[in-house]
Amino acid sequence: MKKPVKVAITGAAGQIAYSLIFRVASGSLLGPDQPVILQLLEVPVPEVLEKLKGTVMEVDDCAFPLVHSIEIHSDPMSGFEGTDYALLVGARPRGPGMERKDLLTANGGIFGPQGKALAAKASKDVRALVVGNPANTNALIAATAAAKGGLDPKQIHAMVRLDHNRAVSQLATKTGVHGNDIEKVIIWGNHSSTQYPDISHTTVGGKAAKSLVDQAWVEKDFIPTVQQRGAAIIKARGLSSAASAASAAVDHVRDWALGSNGKWVSMGVPSDGSYGIKPGIVYGYPCICKNGQYEIVQGLSVDEFSRARMTVTENELREERAAIEDLLA
Ligand code: NDP
Repeated sequence: MKKPVKVAITGAAGQIAYSLIFRVASGSLLGPDQPVILQLLEVPVPEVLEKLKGTVMEVDDCAFPLVHSIEIHSDPMSGFEGTDYALLVGARPRGPGMERKDLLTANGGIFGPQGKALAAKASKDVRALVVGNPANTNALIAATAAAKGGLDPKQIHAMVRLDHNRAVSQLATKTGVHGNDIEKVIIWGNHSSTQYPDISHTTVGGKAAKSLVDQAWVEKDFIPTVQQRGAAIIKARGLSSAASAASAAVDHVRDWALGSNGKWVSMGVPSDGSYGIKPGIVYGYPCICKNGQYEIVQGLSVDEFSRARMTVTENELREERAAIEDLLA
């Protein structure tokens, strides 16, 4: 058996975590021969910690062969001790009458200290994925704090993989193929309704997607459906998406850690000037992962239609950044 690795999950009593913890424990994240130590973090509220204990009882009851041990924490300084992979799910939800700036600032108060704790306590090679919204800007705040403690901002990502998976599924249904036959889908920008799901370079069974669907469908159906899928699920289920968000988080971290086998995956990573997106935000890009590292796919053509949409979502992220600029100092 391999040496166990430490996987931290914040918001561990929440609904996404209720799916995520079991996927990680069963080996979906790091493979069927990799034991894990689960570091579960929650807010220091007795009722929430009690609820988390109930989840831990259920994990115990699964008798998962790969679970080495389970820890419960309410302080990231203890919860991130030696962490190899961190799934940052817990975030402050928007309350009634809450302005976007207030939401961003409230989350800054969570993700700044978590970034600091990752740098102080986690493995120097830690890989962290921010799921909690507003995920891109939360990741920027965490990465900025972590960089002050010596981590590379490239070690902290934001999740746009759920949007990527939704785009694959919509296109597969439209073209009558399995999602496995679809490659090179891109989600550019923010995990929000300004995201740009792009099929300009996508292939369906080796053929250009653009030759199989018309532009009117892309503009009026595909893009809005992917952008607003979260709201559609809330309407149907009466609750926000949870299992699909957890599944996408598993996909993101597994591909990052174990490689994407040459496939393009969409990841929210620090902008580095690629495709004209200047540094300073965490932006969804097409990436290929190998040997535990990601690289942004380079050299793609960007037409006017795509450029306009990439700029809208970039501008939203710059506005989000401006709202919390003081937290980055
Ligand atoms: P969920 O588990 O449903 O969601 C957690 C976060 O994931 C939210 O920010 C949510 O955003 C976000 N998210 C990102 N992508 C998606 C998606 N596709 N679908 C749905 N959500 C998505 O929230 P719960 O309220 O059930 O649980 C959150 C837990 O986090 C609570 O137990 C709370 O105590 C804890 N928490 C922990 C904190 C900490 O660690 N310091 C701070 C605050 C809360 P959105 O809000 O936009 O739906």
